Formats: sequence, structure tokens, C-alpha cells
Amino acid sequence: MFGLMQDRPLLISSLLEHAETYHPGSEIVSATCEGPVVRSTWKSLALRARKLAQALQKLGVKPGDRVATLAWNTHRHVELYFAVSGMGAVLHTVNPRLFPEQIDYIVNHAGSTVLLFDITFAKLVGDLRDRLPGVGHFVALTDEAHMPAEAGPALCYETLLAAEEGVFDWPVFDENTASSLCYTSGTTGNPKGVLYSHRSSVLHSFMVCTVDGLALSSADTTLLVVPLFHVNAWGMPYASAMCGANLVLPGPKLDGESVYKLATAETCTFTLGVPTVWLSLLQYIENTPGLSVSDLPFTRLMIGGSAAPRAMIETFEKGGVPVVQAWGMTETSPVAAVGNLLPKHAALSQEEQIDIKVRQGRAVYGVELKITDEEGATLPHDGARSGDLWVRGPWITRGYFGGEGGEQLDADGWFPTGDVARIDTEGYVTLTDRSKDVIKSGGEWISSIDLENAVMGHAAVQQAAVIGVPHPKWQERPLLVVVKKPGAEAEPKALLDYLSERVARWWLPDDVVFVDALPHTATGKVQKLKLREQFRDHVLP
Ligand code: ADP
Repeated sequence: MFGLMQDRPLLISSLLEHAETYHPGSEIVSATCEGPVVRSTWKSLALRARKLAQALQKLGVKPGDRVATLAWNTHRHVELYFAVSGMGAVLHTVNPRLFPEQIDYIVNHAGSTVLLFDITFAKLVGDLRDRLPGVGHFVALTDEAHMPAEAGPALCYETLLAAEEGVFDWPVFDENTASSLCYTSGTTGNPKGVLYSHRSSVLHSFMVCTVDGLALSSADTTLLVVPLFHVNAWGMPYASAMCGANLVLPGPKLDGESVYKLATAETCTFTLGVPTVWLSLLQYIENTPGLSVSDLPFTRLMIGGSAAPRAMIETFEKGGVPVVQAWGMTETSPVAAVGNLLPKHAALSQEEQIDIKVRQGRAVYGVELKITDEEGATLPHDGARSGDLWVRGPWITRGYFGGEGGEQLDADGWFPTGDVARIDTEGYVTLTDRSKDVIKSGGEWISSIDLENAVMGHAAVQQAAVIGVPHPKWQERPLLVVVKKPGAEAEPKALLDYLSERVARWWLPDDVVFVDALPHTATGKVQKLKLREQFRDHVLP
């Protein structure tokens, strides 16, 4: 027997309609590529999104078509989020930090027919356009006064909007319709597309707005540091509309100084991003006389995308900025686990609380997690055994766009994350490695993440990465690669002595090398594949 409740589809347009009706005055504050900060509201954003939908319709965009963006976090990019998905087309956010040949591969693979770009990417678009035969319209996200020449013939976004009335009824369709498309950075092989649906995006937003999720509410002003081209900015545009939160968009400038100034000027209560961004924010504060972490207005700061180093969590927490770590991936929309403390942890010391915050968090409702051994047998959540991490739920992908990579799920519907983790008795996940980065020494796993975390606590270390290098006896042994803080001195022995007090003896790296910089992926993660290639022939002492 079916229930008798109404079967209304969960559509992204309903989020915008709610924000417009119930939170019309909540602010959208945006830095821009042209320079000035633009202030608008959910009400005016909704009107502009309707104008944009009309304009895109006139350009021939139909339901199911892919519309690509090469753009920073600005109000215009948020308008595209709602207009494109709202009209039944698919927003394809392209990461501009990828290599140009990856960008044309992605745009062509997705079959995107319109490309909207920020003026900072005009030259890139000019260089690429001959290799994008399927793109019928190029649109510069700016006004007539700032139209760039280098991109070649392009339409002007503000002119397109100005020609429309903003009278547009968002169509109603099946909630399983595709809404947006985001490619993984493709550290192995070509990038693969994850195709989100209206239903998955709205369900993920409900979770973001739960107190034990990201606790987002209308009282928040979120500094959206995580890019709109990185997994839908972790779902924040949708969730912010759902609860009517204020959004602050940093535009093209993500350096420590710009982030600090925007956060304090707009009294932002919440922010989220990858560790590299927080590293530059902390460096700016440390190097600027008179500034302190305690000046930051955040009531909480979320770190995800890579392991949050303990030293970073400590610096924020001791400055009065509570840190929450989250785990997820492009394939999981992305938020799957969140590291909130439980009520019983309130009585713990700050150090003990940080012991919990360095973990990657507990599964949120809607997400199931399991770990398995090499034979595929499920391992207990005992905090001791680590194994391959699998995930299942309504906002987890079941395959890639275009069938790339073939079937992904196992017989019971679990998606293999490629991460290796332990899960403790309270459900907190500790990621020990990505399976392709695992260091296997004499048949036992050594956690590169644990080693990196430990050495990041040393005063001379700015960034660290641990990789496995071939070893005649143990197959592989860890090599520690370090970027020192400017002006800091440290001998390899001092770092190894420091580590020996913090990790098991047989985990100690066999050697330490100093480099000027670590290679990073387009989403700001250390590129271990490249490091392994660089040090493949490194001779361990
Ligand atoms: P890509 O796979 O293209 O690098 P994703 O953003 O999808 O991009 O990366 C997902 C991966 O990032 C996860 O599988 C995991 O290895 C890593 N990751 C995400 N959050 C964390 C975290 N809090 N701690 C450690 N690693 C993380």
C-alpha cells in the first residue's frame, strides 16, 4: 500500500523560489573580476536568474543541454547555477586550473553547447575555441564596458540579461533529471564526469542545513572560499537558498589577505575550503603585525578535500575559531562525513577534542559507509583495522557520464571510494591514505596522512608529503618531502627525531628531502603521482 502524501518533485528551482519568497533580503555579496564589490539579494538574484533562463532559451538551450562555465565565485556564477538547472538544462562547471588540453577534453566530452567565462579567462578561451567545435555560443560574464578582445567573438552577459523581462515559469519535471555535471580532476587517466540530479542536490541541501550536518541557517553569512567549479562549492549555493543564508563570494582573489579582508569586512560566520587556502590565510595573519586569528569572525570553519593538519586545527581552535573537518569526493556530492563533536565530548580537554577533529568525521544521515579487507570481507568499526572505504546513498554516484569506466557499484550498490580508512566505535572515520598512494612496507601499510600530520606540527615545516619509494628488502619505504617555512632551518635528523616521538618506529621515513614547492592538483591537493615520478630513482640511505 502506498502512502497518500503528495508526490512533488524535489527541484532546484524550488530552492530559489523559497529564498525569493521567504528570505528576499538575505544578501549576496560578490567580489568581481572587474574590481568593485557588487551587493545584491536573493530576491534580485532570482529575478536575474529568470532573465538568464529567458536569454539562454533564446540562444537555443533546451532541457538536457549542457551549459559550461569557466568562472570564479561571483553572483553571476550563482545565477547560472539556478537558471541553467532550473530550466532543465545541465550546468557543467569546468575547473579553469586544469591543463588546457584537459579543459577541451572535458568540454567536448560533456558536449557543452554554450560556454560562459569570466574575463580573467578570456585568453584561455581565445586559445581553446578552435578546439571546441560543439560550442555554438561564447558568453563573457561581464558588461559592455569590460568585454575582452582576446576571447574572440563573444556575447555580453549583462546585455543578454538587460534584454529580458524576467518573466519565466520554472518548468516542473522529474526530480531525477540531471542538474549539473562536474569532472573529477583525473589524477589517473582522463577526467570522469559526475552527473548530479535535482533530487540528489536537494537531499544533500537538507543535510547541509541540519544542525548535525553543516548547521547552515538563515543566521549565517558564508564566505564561499571553495570554488563553484569544485563539486558545486560543496553544495552551498543550493543549501544557502534553502535556508536563506547570506553568501559572500570572493571572486578571483583567494590569497590570504583578500580572504581575511572580506571575511572581517562582511562579518562572515561560516566558511569552507581546502587546507591550502587556510594555510595562506594563516600565513598572512602570522606575517602581518597587529593581526591575530582571534580577529576572524567565523563561528566555525570547515576544512575538507585533503586532511586537515593537526597544527592548522590547533592554530584556529586556540584563536577561538572552531574547526570542523569533512570528508567527501566529487562522486559524493560531496559531503558524506562531518566531524562534529558529540555531546559527551564537551567535557574533554581542548587537546582531546582536537584528537577527534583530526579525523575525517562521521557519516551523515543518508550516507552509509563500510570498510573491507583485501578479500572484500567487511571489517569491524573498531578504530584499529583499516581497509578500502565504500559508500552508498541517494547523493552518491552510481557511474560516470557517458558510461566512462564501466560499472562502478558492487552487487549491493556500494561505490568504491579509492580511499583507505579506519572507522572507530563512535563512527569517526580516519583516512589513512588514498589506495593509490598507500605505502606498503614488508606487507604492512604505513599511513602517509598520519606521518604528514605529525611532521606538520614541527615549527620549521610549512608543507609536507610522504610517498613510498622502492626498497630492495621492504618493497617500499616512506620518503618525507618537506617545504620549509621561509627563513626556517631544520636538519633531516631533527625532523626524524621529532617524528620518532610521535609515530611507530618502523613508520619513520628512511630519508628527508627539502624542496621549494610541492606539485598541486587543480583542486589544491598535493599531486603524489608526480612526486613519486620525481623521486622514483631516489636512493635511500
Ligand atoms: P579528486 O578525486 O579529483 O582529487 P575530489 O575533490 O573528488 O577530487 O577528491 C576526493 C578525495 O579527496 C577523497 O577521495 C579523499 O582522498 C580526499 N579527501 C577529501 N576530504 C578529505 C579529508 N577531510 N581528509 C583527507 N582526505 C580527504
